Amino acid sequence: MKVSPAIAQTARIAAAIDKLASFTEADRPYTRLVFSPEFDAARNWLADAFAAAGLVCHIDSGGNLIGTRTVNLERANLKMSDEGRADRAKVLIGSHIDTVPAGGRFDGIAGVIAALEVVHYLNEHQIELPFDLEIVDYLGEELNVWGTSCLGSRHMAGLLTPEILGRVDVDGRQLASEITRIGGNNLGCDEVRSDADQILACLELHIEQAKLLEIQSHDIGIVTAIPGIYRYGISVKGQAGHSGTTPMDDRQDALVAAADIILAINGLASDIARDENQHFVATIGKIEVFPNGAAIVPGQVEMTLDMRSASTHSKSAFLAAFETICRDSAARRHCAVDVRPLAAADIAPMDSGLMQNLSDAAAVNGLSTIKLASGAGHDTAHLSRFAPAAIIFIPCSDGLSHCPEEFTSNEAIAKGAWVLTSCVLALAGKPLQAVVQR
Ligand SMILES: [Zn+2]
Repeated sequence: MKVSPAIAQTARIAAAIDKLASFTEADRPYTRLVFSPEFDAARNWLADAFAAAGLVCHIDSGGNLIGTRTVNLERANLKMSDEGRADRAKVLIGSHIDTVPAGGRFDGIAGVIAALEVVHYLNEHQIELPFDLEIVDYLGEELNVWGTSCLGSRHMAGLLTPEILGRVDVDGRQLASEITRIGGNNLGCDEVRSDADQILACLELHIEQAKLLEIQSHDIGIVTAIPGIYRYGISVKGQAGHSGTTPMDDRQDALVAAADIILAINGLASDIARDENQHFVATIGKIEVFPNGAAIVPGQVEMTLDMRSASTHSKSAFLAAFETICRDSAARRHCAVDVRPLAAADIAPMDSGLMQNLSDAAAVNGLSTIKLASGAGHDTAHLSRFAPAAIIFIPCSDGLSHCPEEFTSNEAIAKGAWVLTSCVLALAGKPLQAVVQR
């Protein structure tokens, strides 16, 4: 019996997703932390899968696994430059296969498998591209014990500083040594990838990790921007005291001051998101109370604010009001409030030309699209600092992500792969065409 290409494709996607899901801590699915034995094993499997698709594999200095479908210089009518380096264009498609602890089967993984599907299509149709196509598993996209996410894409962008590389975890593992152990060498960690000017496009497919596509029944989200992510440490200092003898009107309760701030920030962020009709969120998800005793008025609170904004205006509006909130709370509760920036990654607008290409590629395949801003950070944000970059979202169930219930269908991944494929063909100068394998 002849199996239709579409069925063969979803079966191949399903097999790859299942296989990668099997590389997990056994008692905590799905856990494949960067540099763990499960991660190393999954990388080996992926390198074999890349090779089986005819890709030439290597690990770059930043520890990214790259499978290259090399341009045929003769057929593409290109010449080697004097240094023996092919003077040619490149297109990158990739995502990541590491997970958070007890994460899902699709976050990042769907993007790597979809990228591989582009290669399968080109191979099956014996299509030569006039550029190198690099399929990339970016190293360690998820936030890790060294306190940094997107290791591989940051490295390509020259943003992995010696300070970050020198960090050591509680088990004494230095980040730089771990990158070396898996095949990188950390050279040029503070320089943009040397062939950046030859990169035509960096493309990524990712699950939405929110509900908009599902609710509105759209196939593909064309992402307009990846939000800026800003973290601040907030210290509230009051005066610890006896909970029985300190009168209510003579307290400097740091936790009550912190509670004022948390509630006010929540209200402020909700107002900004609604009024500006932009993706804007602010969260205090980490808090420590000192001395943390049941019979002691809290004397000090340390907390972390995580703020994400798809617009610079929303960010400025928030920061201005945030300052007032802290000042008012300090005055009302007789405490001192100190705010210091911890980390910042600016808003990354996606390349408008590539967004149009992806939108056209979806349309020609009969898929519906909407434009939306990302809520989460992605490798593509860092890639966009040095090359044209864009990311598409596919729907996921109930918006769930970073949990074992995370789900998207093999068909949704296949549709995303069609969009990437048609986009790559258009970048190769071929007429816009559907690649639906019905
Ligand atoms: Zn991800």
